[in-house]
Amino acid sequence: AGSASTSSVRQVKLDRESELRIEVGNDSPLRLRLLSGNAEIFGTELPPEIWLTLPPRLKIAVFTWYGATLEMDGATETDYTADETPMIGYVNVHAILEARRNRARASSADDSGATQGPRVIVVGPTDSGKSTLSRMLLSWAAKQGWKPTFVDLDIGQGSITIPGCIAATPIELPIDPVEGIPLEMPLVYFYGHTTPSNNVDLYKVLVKELAQVLERQFTGNAESRAAGMVINTMGWIEGVGYELLLHAIDTLNANVVLVLGQEKLWSMLKDVLKNKPNVDVVKLQKSGGVVSRNAKYRQKARSYRIREYFYGPANDLSPHSNIANFSDLFIYRIGGGPQAPRSALPIGAEPAADPTRLVPVNINRDLLHLVLAVSFAKEPDEIISSNVAGFVYITDIDIQRKKITYLAPSAGDLPGKYLIVGTLTWIET
Ligand code: ADP
Repeated sequence: AGSASTSSVRQVKLDRESELRIEVGNDSPLRLRLLSGNAEIFGTELPPEIWLTLPPRLKIAVFTWYGATLEMDGATETDYTADETPMIGYVNVHAILEARRNRARASSADDSGATQGPRVIVVGPTDSGKSTLSRMLLSWAAKQGWKPTFVDLDIGQGSITIPGCIAATPIELPIDPVEGIPLEMPLVYFYGHTTPSNNVDLYKVLVKELAQVLERQFTGNAESRAAGMVINTMGWIEGVGYELLLHAIDTLNANVVLVLGQEKLWSMLKDVLKNKPNVDVVKLQKSGGVVSRNAKYRQKARSYRIREYFYGPANDLSPHSNIANFSDLFIYRIGGGPQAPRSALPIGAEPAADPTRLVPVNINRDLLHLVLAVSFAKEPDEIISSNVAGFVYITDIDIQRKKITYLAPSAGDLPGKYLIVGTLTWIET
């Protein structure tokens, strides 16, 4: 166990409440199927007999509640079975959430507090299994017919859209272990950087905007209100990261805080939230199967996410290279630059850099290889509060002819004329 295996078809028998942990190799996919019994990948049941193709580098566990036999075809980086997992604890949380959803659905519409289902926020250090637990809770809820809202606040390794964004989307079906989250019109805000310290205030503003839109949607939709939310967060939990966690809990009105893999964070949150009796702070065990990813791996994963946005998960999309005149595009940066000229300030006051100031950007070669967002804003002053339609990637700047070449998901006009630039780069490989 635990060693690389050769490419051949082989069977694995799993006892009840155990899992097969797999790291697919870097170069070739792995085929996997369920021969007998029942098994699930992060909350989504495997169909019987049908071969699944797991792409290179995927790290997953196939878990069974009552026992299963699996068949694998292909080489893996590692694969081993484990019978110590935190799954019982996780499914107990699911059962409690389920009861709260049912209670919310049965409550009278006059009592808006009671009709709100659970708003779960998953917190913990990087590589504690936050995204995986979020995914399980969503898939288990969807399996029971709920449409919970997934909110991903992780600007580094988010799973709804490209890095540098915060986003939300309803989950209508158990999440496909290979395809991930279907991209049907998610609500996306572009932060533009992969770490929150670049512009903490902007991050907070965007979380607030997202929260307000979700609140409005819930008002008109009792079912999704009762289903509640699962909120995934960044692994940054110290200093500003901690401050942003508290901000998210507060802004999104989370009422269940699940803390993974860190006693200290749990006790800090428990202490700071003790005045809010309606907020439960629950400590959960981290799975021994969670794979640690180093900085280089994370950087690569970000790059793959961007590639996937343009080319599709299986290279099945064909993005379009477009050429525009400098004068056709209106590009803005958010933050930086002095807020007001010194002359407009009271005597003695220093001009502070306004983190949410909109700064028009002159097109030059600094934009090369950056990923920009296309805002839904109709006017520049709506840019900060607007969500985004999609992204473009700058591939060439011709200063002499004043032409800019960019990659977009499709040909034709962009869905908006205002673009936002941050520090998100990508080198197409
Ligand atoms: P976090 O969101 O806390 O950074 P993730 O949930 O993304 O952590 O987990 C890190 C990696 O470990 C992911 O690639 C995930 O698929 C993998 N992983 C999580 N749980 C397991 C498990 N039980 N067995 C194998 N791989 C796992």
